[in-house]
Amino acid sequence: MKIIDLLKKETLSLSFEVFPPKTETAFESVKYATEEIARLHPAFMSVTYGAGGGTSRYTLEIARNIKAAYGVPTLAHLTCVSSTKETVREKIKAIKEAGIENVMALRGDIPKELEGADRSAWDYRYAIDLVRELKEANPDFCIGGACYPEIHPESVNQREDLARLKEKVDAGCDFLTTQMFFDNNLLYNFLYKIREAGITVPIIPGIMPITNANQVERAVKLSGSFMPQRFKSLVDKFGSAPDAMKQAGIAYATDQIIDLYANGITNVHVYSMNKPDVAEKIQANLSDILGK
Ligand code: FAD
Repeated sequence: MKIIDLLKKETLSLSFEVFPPKTETAFESVKYATEEIARLHPAFMSVTYGAGGGTSRYTLEIARNIKAAYGVPTLAHLTCVSSTKETVREKIKAIKEAGIENVMALRGDIPKELEGADRSAWDYRYAIDLVRELKEANPDFCIGGACYPEIHPESVNQREDLARLKEKVDAGCDFLTTQMFFDNNLLYNFLYKIREAGITVPIIPGIMPITNANQVERAVKLSGSFMPQRFKSLVDKFGSAPDAMKQAGIAYATDQIIDLYANGITNVHVYSMNKPDVAEKIQANLSDILGK
């Protein structure tokens, strides 16, 4: 099932993100966690792809398993920046052969050792190069792209960021998923600007439930997201009490989702990070709204 078709639903639906194991020994436990999440029957599940090949070899295996065993549509992430044409073409071929219809086309982060290097001769410099390659390989792929309500950290300003985003969408993205954000007003402003920039594809907001205090620093470093005072107070109050922090973080994410839905957004992507209990609690908190 193509994600673009799932997005036509007019009532709230949730999708969950998982990531593949970093080592072979972790494979079984990660597979189990992703299956537990699949049992919740989300609208779809996305499986991330480790830039630089770290955890990339298991992305397809996890995606294929979720789809085959639980009938949950999957979105396989793929990055391109430090890859050769040959590797990317092999990966695309494998995705096609696995019967995966949905691909998240990403540039990936520039590996530390290559920061500042001359990129002019690289096979892939931006996600748009991968979007074009995917479209050429299979015009039938449903392609997603990433977008940034608080602008991508490498962009000089939002105008530039949106101009590049428009080019990426015009190259063939069917939908966009946002970076995490903790203040819904940032998303509403972004949606306004994105439409003003002439980008009309569906935007899926990404919500990250923060369930422990250490995660806050990591999430902010990774995404550059703004932490509202309301969220900071919650971490100050509960940060040293793990169970309370988890409960508060899940409540905060739930509240964000309810507000998004109340403001007309029907599809929300939850960065569930291989935590079935977190995915389950969020779904349970919304059970009457979701009709589940
Ligand atoms: P791009 O769209 O290429 O944009 C990157 C930067 O380049 C932006 O500043 C953009 O404005 C600029 N740019 C784009 N095109 C041009 C151009 N033609 N000329 C000049 N500048 C340009 N990372 C992973 O490793 N694995 C994952 O599975 C993964 N999943 C993600 C899922 C989501 C929803 C999001 C939001 C991010 C994800 N990431 C993942 C992180 C992502 O790889 C990084 O944020 C990366 O730095 C940018 O990727 P992109 O696809 O947005 O790049």
